[in-house]
Amino acid sequence: MDLSELSAESIKLGLKTELIGQNIVYYPSLGSTNDLLKELAAQGTPEGTLVIADEQTAGKGRLGRKWLAPPGTSLLLSLLFRPELAPNQAQRLTMICSLAIADAIEELTGLSVGLKWPNDIFIRGKKAGGILTESVTIGGRLDCVVVGMGLNVNLDISTLPELRGMATSLSQELGREVSRPELLWRILEGIEIRYKSLKRGESPHEEWAARLINLARQVQVTTPQGVLVGWAEGVDVDGALILRTSDGQHQRILAGDVTLRNPPDRAQRLL
Ligand code: ATP
Repeated sequence: MDLSELSAESIKLGLKTELIGQNIVYYPSLGSTNDLLKELAAQGTPEGTLVIADEQTAGKGRLGRKWLAPPGTSLLLSLLFRPELAPNQAQRLTMICSLAIADAIEELTGLSVGLKWPNDIFIRGKKAGGILTESVTIGGRLDCVVVGMGLNVNLDISTLPELRGMATSLSQELGREVSRPELLWRILEGIEIRYKSLKRGESPHEEWAARLINLARQVQVTTPQGVLVGWAEGVDVDGALILRTSDGQHQRILAGDVTLRNPPDRAQRLL
């Protein structure tokens, strides 16, 4: 079997986990891995189920934005968690997944990886991946959390003119291709270790904060109520951004309903 190819069999062969990715649903092409996994979750599919596709035809970012991923170029996956957390703690799953992705990339390639609050993977100032976390609540209780991850692995960015200048991929940065199954195994193993410690009650927020590239700087946050400008001081235990506005007030901003940009005059500071 060609282990450089993605398939349920090749993934299973090298995966050393007990829970995460033990149930694999693979499609060569799929609308959205998150949408399928939410359906499977409603039918009772077990925790740790991995939905993975070689190509996504209706990949989603936050707020209905599109995630672009031509066939053969990316890791496109969703994982199901059934954690004992409150609904406002679901961002902890985003944190453990993004930390595991960052570690896996660094270990495998030597590239250094930053995270951008609340959900992006950055390499050398450009976006290399994104995470879309969707929670299902029933009667105010958190039923399950689907974490979708899209990572540009062997993607030639010049084939996607709309991303030029703002996105990158591992192959673009390294000048060579990277084995997608090998990267996936490391990511899933890292998530499993981190999920175990999350279940023991540990929060990953300090380690996450240390990797965030948009803390300790001036940022602009677009919320449904309007635009806020302020100093990004830190994140709290649930991953909310603590923003100090010019009047000295502290605002606690939860991911999910905001976009965050550096103000235009500071555009270079994030790069
Ligand atoms: P921002 O990138 O401004 O922080 P966001 O985090 O809300 O926004 P996401 O919801 O994570 O964005 O992802 C959607 C956006 O990501 C799209 O609007 C597009 O700009 C960008 N994008 C889409 N496909 C890719 C890709 N393969 N690589 C990098 N960026 C992409």
